[in-house]
Amino acid sequence: MRIDILTLFPEMCEAVLSESILGRARANGLVEVQCHQIRDFSADKHNRVDDAPYGGGMGMIMQPQPIYDCFMHLCETLGKRPHLVYMSPQGKTLTQQRAKDFARMDNLAILCGHYEGVDERLLEEIVDEEISIGDYVLTGGELPALVLTDCVARMLPGVLSDESCFTEESHFSGLLEYPQYTRPPEWHGREVPHILLSGHHANIEAYRHAQALRRTAQKRPELLARYALTKQDEAILAQETDTD
Ligand code: SAM
Repeated sequence: MRIDILTLFPEMCEAVLSESILGRARANGLVEVQCHQIRDFSADKHNRVDDAPYGGGMGMIMQPQPIYDCFMHLCETLGKRPHLVYMSPQGKTLTQQRAKDFARMDNLAILCGHYEGVDERLLEEIVDEEISIGDYVLTGGELPALVLTDCVARMLPGVLSDESCFTEESHFSGLLEYPQYTRPPEWHGREVPHILLSGHHANIEAYRHAQALRRTAQKRPELLARYALTKQDEAILAQETDTD
């Protein structure tokens, strides 16, 4: 998969994209992520990319021309038009389910707004959808674009050591993940649940599923309302105490 990020701050994106799991995945060719400097496409002799809002008001608005030309250049480079997402606090909130859809695409382009946002005509002309990372406002779309890129890229084949690394995590199946423990077996008087030390894989799996159900009910009951509970799940939730 290839992800193209259109931004006024490519170095900010590169700093994150070159590190850790994403950095290794890019180096190993498991995902291609390219950042494009929108300013390089400014037709203004001073390389301006923004201007004051018509009608008055605070801040600056990103002009349509440099973004449009940047996107057209990308389309020419790719030989096709990628799906274009504009990161925006006005968009639909990113979910694991939506990220799974993006991870199935061959190409994804992400537009980062900055300042007070982007001229509406540009959004109408080329943007396919707006995605938000939550109901709050940030200074720019770079962090949201990195959130989306990270969430999508870690689901691509080979990026994590095994599919279960993300399929068993919170939100993938609709439940929160079961509690996790590592060495030592006792810490500050708190013991790791004995079943996890038993080596009995079927029992451990059943225990973890029960824990995932219970903690979803406890922490995020609205998620459980959308989850297809089996009769067995209902019985687990009806039990009062944890078994370990
Ligand atoms: N004036 C805009 C509004 O009220 O809807 C907010 C502009 S915000 C200060 C600047 C840029 O940050 C936006 O164009 C968008 O790209 C990005 N941004 C801010 N908050 C975001 C969020 N919650 N999700 C995704 N992108 C966000």
